[in-house]
Amino acid sequence: MKLALSRVHFPVTTLGPGRRLGIWVQGCSIRCPGCISSDTWATRTPDVDVAELLENIQPWLQECDGITISGGEPFEQPEAFKQLLRGIRQLSGVSILAYSGQSLEALENSDVVKQGLVDCLISDPFEVNMGQTKYLRGSDNQRMTCLTALGHEVFGFLDRYATDDDRRLDVMFDANGEVWLAGIPRRGDISRLQLILENQGTYLRTTEARS
Ligand code: SF4
Repeated sequence: MKLALSRVHFPVTTLGPGRRLGIWVQGCSIRCPGCISSDTWATRTPDVDVAELLENIQPWLQECDGITISGGEPFEQPEAFKQLLRGIRQLSGVSILAYSGQSLEALENSDVVKQGLVDCLISDPFEVNMGQTKYLRGSDNQRMTCLTALGHEVFGFLDRYATDDDRRLDVMFDANGEVWLAGIPRRGDISRLQLILENQGTYLRTTEARS
């Protein structure tokens, strides 16, 4: 079973509690206006073998406090997503947080939700004109739902307003030298960062600029 994958990174500290393993899938047909991950929209033939991916992430599974899966839209690759989650469950007992732009109601009957393969789900599309006051969410319409006992234990107390500290971003460097950011920026944060860097002679190209 193969998965269209965007990237994997460890540690991610801005998308859930602790030092988490971040897995971003490739492909999203929802295309919310204002999405900061538009580099993950394009669909690609799935080319990463899930068993190989599980083998490659094993060292991080021993070290991480949890796993966050985002995209892209993981539920648009249901079989590969399910196989990945089942594999993670066999290898690790850490909490799994997943993001989806689909509504909770649309996902309720998915195997991933019914089988409790994700501990906490952040659902619903990003709405660019909504408030941005909630922890772990880009817009206030997005819902956080704990789906398992572990989900309630780890995330139950995190359905709250975001603090200034929650608005940090992880800065990461890819093997090819590209810099990218993970986290939930406030509206205008990226433009402000662009301005600061431009004043210092550096041009920041964002995924929004590419769309
Ligand atoms: S916010 Fe999520 S669901 Fe919406 S377009 Fe971006 S990746 Fe897709």
